[in-house]
Amino acid sequence: ISKDVLASAQGPALSQDGERVKVYINAGLSADTDVAAGQGADGVGLYRTEVPFMLASRFPGEEEQFRLYSHVLSRYPGLPVTLRTLDVGGDKPLPYLPIEEDNPFLGWRGIRITLDQPDIFLIQLKAMLRAHQHHGNLQILLPMISSVAEVDEALRLMRQAHFELCEAMGAFELPKVGVMVEVPASLYLLPALAERVQFVSVGSNDLTQYLLAVDRNNPRVAELFRPFHPAVVQALAQIQRQCQELGLPVSVCGEMAGEPLGFTLLLALGYRHLSMNASQVARAKHLLKKLSLADLEKLRPQLLASLDADELGWQLREPLTQAG
Ligand code: PEP
Ligand code: MG
Repeated sequence: ISKDVLASAQGPALSQDGERVKVYINAGLSADTDVAAGQGADGVGLYRTEVPFMLASRFPGEEEQFRLYSHVLSRYPGLPVTLRTLDVGGDKPLPYLPIEEDNPFLGWRGIRITLDQPDIFLIQLKAMLRAHQHHGNLQILLPMISSVAEVDEALRLMRQAHFELCEAMGAFELPKVGVMVEVPASLYLLPALAERVQFVSVGSNDLTQYLLAVDRNNPRVAELFRPFHPAVVQALAQIQRQCQELGLPVSVCGEMAGEPLGFTLLLALGYRHLSMNASQVARAKHLLKKLSLADLEKLRPQLLASLDADELGWQLREPLTQAG
């Protein structure tokens, strides 16, 4: 990494025309969060709690989870740390929770598992809430939401865990709760979600997979997995617009947010909260410094009119080339 890039990593993420963008990190290991704490990230946009679960040989208990979450929260005093509840199933198996299915990506995954196994969910929520009571900077994110009923049930269990902890330890405030927008159904539920949760985070990896019916991990169809597919871009634009109308804070935490072209596209669509791998933060902040967001937004109609992923990519290359 050049000195220039490292210099940009310090200080707030600002565009060439002086707009503030929040750049968060995606993490799953505490090592990731330790590295990024020194890179000027604005907090953790996505902490994948399934990663420590996958590395364990049995379900981690409440104490163990409490210590882990506390450590992560303590790295970002005063900054939001978004812990996502367990998102196993699909491509993320747990050795100690075998699942046999013909269609794992359409099966028992994410919130579906934890709502069916409330004991697992309640232990995790209690560990998270206790860490929040100590550090005060937690946000909880719910994965794979496809209905309002799932959100209501998750919130009910959260209030139950919170109530029990308040009885035992004294009152404290509930953290902000958010929902992953990654199952296409959730696009049509945003007004109802806005009445229930405090933020949403777009999972562009799964959103692309499910909108295009293309397995995100199958090399045979890798060519068809296109976050720049016009349908995905329309969906991303619609989510941003509707969240703005609803006053619902929105971020993007899929892989595209950390790649220069994807980052630029999301800025052009109006997103101002982006979450990426720790190793991509310095580069993104450096690029941002050279981009005029006002100019990028002028490209929006043209981007939305594009019917081809490659062509859309080319339209973004011009501002990127100008940025060097
Ligand atoms: C996503 O689906 O875009 C996402 C961020 O979650 P994961 O990659 O963990 O499924
Ligand atoms: Mg996902």
